[in-house]
Amino acid sequence: MKWELIYGIVYSAVAVHGVRADASMVTYQVGDLEVHLLVEQQGQGSGSILLGASEGNLNRYIPGGTYQSETNTLLIRSPDRILLVDTGFGGALFDHLTRLGIDPDQVDAVLLTHLHGDHIGGLQTAGKARFPRASVYLAQQEKTYWTETARNRAAVAALAPYGSRVHTFLPAPLGSAEELIPGIRAIAAFGHTPGHTLYQVESKGQKLLIWGDLMHVQDIQFPLPGISVSYDTDPQAAGAIRKQVLDYAVQNKVPIAGMHLRYPGIGTVTAEGEGYRFSPLGGR
Ligand SMILES: [Zn+2]
Repeated sequence: MKWELIYGIVYSAVAVHGVRADASMVTYQVGDLEVHLLVEQQGQGSGSILLGASEGNLNRYIPGGTYQSETNTLLIRSPDRILLVDTGFGGALFDHLTRLGIDPDQVDAVLLTHLHGDHIGGLQTAGKARFPRASVYLAQQEKTYWTETARNRAAVAALAPYGSRVHTFLPAPLGSAEELIPGIRAIAAFGHTPGHTLYQVESKGQKLLIWGDLMHVQDIQFPLPGISVSYDTDPQAAGAIRKQVLDYAVQNKVPIAGMHLRYPGIGTVTAEGEGYRFSPLGGR
């Protein structure tokens, strides 16, 4: 699909719902599904989180030692259901929902990429579910690690109010993942965390790969994908799966969306030199 066409669809979709495009929300059509990338937070990140980058590469790609960081969530709307992928810190997300005319009790399911605080912050407040009707989906490995092995209090608290509406699954590797729910495949991308999961959205032959935290610092990790960050539980595994997913996106021309890619946070990937090049939606 040509970018001009996608842009046309984006803006017609925006017009349909009366939402103005600005630097905090992007609407992207995948067949019958409308996907909104919602910016939760923008700021400055420190290059000190990068592992294994040479001085020369740091100076080249992260001049000054800082980069523009961002945290996003995604909302997927079909004619019969509303899904969220992650919940950010639980701040701007709720303003975005209001602007979209969506009440939190209309959200049918929350799909979690992993259980870090910047992805589950919107699940609960004061022990109450902020999405009272929603089911929560996450990888079994992720739930086990954070609620049993590592016993992270925030992760336990985030899931607790959802009780029996928390559903776990075993994500499959790229290319062999079955549908978790209609139109959505859950793909194993362990490394950033032990159960880190990507969600591929598909409708009418069009696809979008929501890749969660496969990458944190796009300025250096597209050209040098072997570089991981200190947040990665297993930096080596994170680097290996990052390259595999990038190859998949290039070879299959599947657009990608990321929770820490800068606005518009959605685009395509091509091979370039030893690494990759990201072309954000709109061709900037
Ligand atoms: Zn994150």
